[in-house]
Amino acid sequence: MAITINDLNVKEKIQWCPGCGNFSLLAALKGALAELGKPQHETVIVTGIGCSGKTNHYVNTYGFESLHGRTLPVASGIKLANTSLTVIAEGGDGDGYGIGVEHFMHIMRRNYDLTYIVHDNQLYGLTTGQASPTSLPGMKTKTTPWGVIETPFNPILNAINGGATYVARGFTGDPAHLKQLFKGAIEHKGFALVDVFQPCVTFNKLNTPEWFRERVYKLEDAKHNPKDRSAAREKAEEDSKTDYKRCPIGLFYTEEKPTYESLLPQIKGRPLVEHGMKIDLSKAYEEFM
Ligand code: SF4
Repeated sequence: MAITINDLNVKEKIQWCPGCGNFSLLAALKGALAELGKPQHETVIVTGIGCSGKTNHYVNTYGFESLHGRTLPVASGIKLANTSLTVIAEGGDGDGYGIGVEHFMHIMRRNYDLTYIVHDNQLYGLTTGQASPTSLPGMKTKTTPWGVIETPFNPILNAINGGATYVARGFTGDPAHLKQLFKGAIEHKGFALVDVFQPCVTFNKLNTPEWFRERVYKLEDAKHNPKDRSAAREKAEEDSKTDYKRCPIGLFYTEEKPTYESLLPQIKGRPLVEHGMKIDLSKAYEEFM
């Protein structure tokens, strides 16, 4: 079924700060869904809490705004209930790599057929700029007035080692490239991570759009082979090994592997929603209302 960007637009006024990288990310996501012709009623966008949590308010598909760090458990539950849906989970670096990191590790090792998009702006934006797991060493924030002293969480390396079967990183300063990565992730059968450099222009005065523009380069231009796990690991460590002077974007790693839901005997070949189960919730409602 053909759909257009207009079909995916909503009337709601977008609340992000002017110049925020989220605008470009949103455009790339809508472009990917439109080009793939994903029917709106068969697409669900699940978010957590944070500026990224607004994304599903701004796309005319089904949506679910969950709790902080709980994007992936909700998304995997939706996928298990109806395997025919396209399920996209979204959250920020604090949401996904901080409070939600245990879900990230376990859901990707199971290889659910999900796309996970992380708006990685290297701090907590909605709460006005505290250090997050991906804040760079030395970065001064409200919670680190003398600078970050921790080693940053490396989402790409953790995803490759943790069992994700499509691992990519994009930059909101290159929306056409980002759209291609989103399309690849959505089409991929298995757990797909797209970590996105998404500058927070209001609170992150270190990792600005210009900062990224000077450092990013495309893996495909460097003839990287995304089927080579060792090469992918090396590329995943290039940021820290070059003291953040070179930051590759593109597809780091991909492999084919059966998805969790395809191996689950109870729903093999027939989604849960088609099992015709009758559940009487009236007693539970009586007890808790
Ligand atoms: Fe974007 Fe930062 Fe504003 Fe949030 S606080 S909308 S991440 S610029």
